Amino acid sequence: MNLLDSFGRKHTYLRISVTDRCNFRCVYCLPEHGVKWTSKSDILSYEEIAHIVHVFAQLGIQKLRLTGGEPTMRADICTLVASLCQIQGVREVNMTTNGYTLPKMAQPLYDAGLRKLNISLDTLDKELFHKMSRGFSIGPVLDGIEKALSLGFVLKINAVMLKGINEQSILPLLDFCALRNIELRFIEYMPFDVRWHQCVTSTEIQTYISKRYTLSPLSSDSLSGPSQTYWVSEKKMKVGFISPLSNRFCSSCNRLRLSCKGELRTCLAHEEAPSLGALLRNNATDREIKYQIQKQVLGKKEGHFCEVESGTPFQGVMTQIGG
Ligand code: SAM
Ligand code: SF4
Repeated sequence: MNLLDSFGRKHTYLRISVTDRCNFRCVYCLPEHGVKWTSKSDILSYEEIAHIVHVFAQLGIQKLRLTGGEPTMRADICTLVASLCQIQGVREVNMTTNGYTLPKMAQPLYDAGLRKLNISLDTLDKELFHKMSRGFSIGPVLDGIEKALSLGFVLKINAVMLKGINEQSILPLLDFCALRNIELRFIEYMPFDVRWHQCVTSTEIQTYISKRYTLSPLSSDSLSGPSQTYWVSEKKMKVGFISPLSNRFCSSCNRLRLSCKGELRTCLAHEEAPSLGALLRNNATDREIKYQIQKQVLGKKEGHFCEVESGTPFQGVMTQIGG
């Protein structure tokens, strides 16, 4: 079955925020003093997540990504990974993590069936990392990367560049990833409130890299998501650009998001209701849940209206929705 919207976009990819909690307080993601966490009783249990994913899989969802918040902060996350990997129709279960717990968690995650990890790393500079994560040390993240590589995980590094803060990290990150055969992806900073307008656009980063290296565009497959990927011939590596603001990928968007409370968002930028979690807790049948999903997907808007210049705020907190 295909999950099509009224613009003919087929949805095969679900991102699941398993918790809004996080050990870090990255400057571009969470306010310095944190946010009020969602109460534990409102957060979907693993059984509820698996139930909802089962329904999504029947509707054509093939690829899942566990995110948050920090997914490895949730107790027994490996239990969830293992159960999602069993669901018929699910071809991939991946995770986005800040990598801090990977020295310990990489092995159990691998054993649970996870094979691909996106690790967020915005700089290799110890002090800057400490500043950007608001108080954390880069050591465990780097150890976690090495551990994951040694186990055979396929890794991607996600980096957010902020004007005047970490642009000088672009080339060192390229070197780091090239040496380890890791794809590096630059994600444009999305202003979640009116705090900053420090987005370094993908074009700016490409121009910067191109002064040193040759970027040749690669074609993307149906599960590769919104990243525009290039081959850096001198470094023999891939570098991707995710440009939600400067080069919106709305026309080919194949993703849906499930918040930690079970709300389905058809776009990061649009708030919708009701919650699939609430339906489940009110004993809705799978048929009713399917109907609600199809209805929301059919009503998915053509695009979002966030701009680099105006910094139009997204509604909601990234960690609850799942970045
Ligand atoms: N804690 C995990 C991590 O950091 O990888 C997963 C959740 S985090 C919200 C997922 C991704 O969203 C990270 O790669 C992070 O860099 C990115 N992100 C967070 N806030 C962002 C923002 N305002 N604009 C663009 N990307 C953002
Ligand atoms: Fe936490 Fe990830 Fe947000 Fe950083 S980007 S504060 S690690 S959820």
